[in-house]
Amino acid sequence: MGLSTRNEAVSDGRISGNCMVVLGCQWGDEGKGKIVDVLAEDVHVVARFQGGANAGHTVHVGEDEFILHQIPSGIIHPEKRCLLGNGVVVDAIGFCEEFDGLKARGIVVEGRVGVSQKAHLVMPYHRLLDQISEDNTEQKIGTTGRGIGPAYEEKAGRKGIRVSDFAHPKRVASLVEEGIERARRRAEFLGGEISGDVDAMVDEALQAAERLSGLATDTGLEILNAVRSGKRVLLEGAQGTALDLDHGTYPFVTSSNTTAGGAATGSGIGPTVIDAVMGVVKAYTTRVGNGPLPTGFEPEMDEKFRQLGGEFGATTGRPRRCGWFDAVLARYAARVNGLTGLAVTKLDVLDTVPEISIATSYRTQGGDVHEFPADTWQLGEVEPVYETLPGWESSTADARSLEDLPSAARRYLDRIEELTETPVQMVSVGTRRRQIIRV
Ligand code: GDP
Repeated sequence: MGLSTRNEAVSDGRISGNCMVVLGCQWGDEGKGKIVDVLAEDVHVVARFQGGANAGHTVHVGEDEFILHQIPSGIIHPEKRCLLGNGVVVDAIGFCEEFDGLKARGIVVEGRVGVSQKAHLVMPYHRLLDQISEDNTEQKIGTTGRGIGPAYEEKAGRKGIRVSDFAHPKRVASLVEEGIERARRRAEFLGGEISGDVDAMVDEALQAAERLSGLATDTGLEILNAVRSGKRVLLEGAQGTALDLDHGTYPFVTSSNTTAGGAATGSGIGPTVIDAVMGVVKAYTTRVGNGPLPTGFEPEMDEKFRQLGGEFGATTGRPRRCGWFDAVLARYAARVNGLTGLAVTKLDVLDTVPEISIATSYRTQGGDVHEFPADTWQLGEVEPVYETLPGWESSTADARSLEDLPSAARRYLDRIEELTETPVQMVSVGTRRRQIIRV
């Protein structure tokens, strides 16, 4: 690759520093699960730092497919410690189902999963409220309806229930009572109603949360101790940079900080503990949910890519919108995350495409812009300026080194590297673990 590795902590697409963040640089679904799964081989601890059951990682191991929503995908590797940091909001029922489901498939989970004492819980009334508010607003965000937004709202509003509260049953009971009441009033205000047997749903959630509280830990301390004793830690992001609460396409964003700063806050360590930040980008762009997608395709091409790339959400099955690689967004992601390297996934999806475009800037009424606009409505109106490169029209699925790739594919990766000013350190050419190039 043309550019040298800027951070000595990372080389050969392997973790050589002790603490690395892996996060998405587009609108989520970049294939982070696969990259984390590959990197997890080299680490001792994998921790999530934000999001909740709205994330979905699909990992293929041999013929087995694992879809994980809350437990880090490191769980599929024997003996890794898997943590859910304080920045995560946990759906206890879903968590226990996932935990038991992994166990039923022969994965040893006992003693390997820890949940921050400070993590907040997503309650059934958050989920109901999420659906009601999405159904009753004109400006739909396209949420997954899993209660994540309302749970974070209660966290910021200092009304949430944390894992550590389970040491005080009376406190939990009064927080729940007030939470249900607030949800009812809010639902009424929105023109809906909290319906169903809420008490039974809440009882089930509390029983699951009680079980979860048995896994409570100080994630920041665990991570720091691991790093200090020479162990390697991987901090795994969910969603992507353009969905970050502060830096994404607000308000069409998720309710947490998906960017690298959130990795420190959401896991309980200081930023100086982090050695490297690996940004995951798909070789093209996709977006699920609402909000602008500047490089989005016309319907025919959109459908073609959806089929080629299997672009349907892991959590909801929703079809994703597809488009060309957006280097304006990727360069922005490199900046706000302080990326030290890139992992480019799904290169193989472009194998049959004769010509491939990359958006290098945006045309606006006020002239061409090279920076990702803060104004989401402006972003909806920009016209991408494309550069078109020849496709390679041959299979990359068996490539294991850059030399194995067709020269047009190498050129494409070089161009991504130049435009983002970030070294490409990994390239994924298929769903399987072995289908990876470490640069
Ligand atoms: P994540 O949340 O970022 O992990 O993304 P998802 O799990 O929602 O989507 C990634 C999908 O792409 C999964 O089905 C992966 O198996 C698949 N995938 C990951 N890397 C590659 C790749 O290099 N090529 C192909 N064809 N599929 C991939």
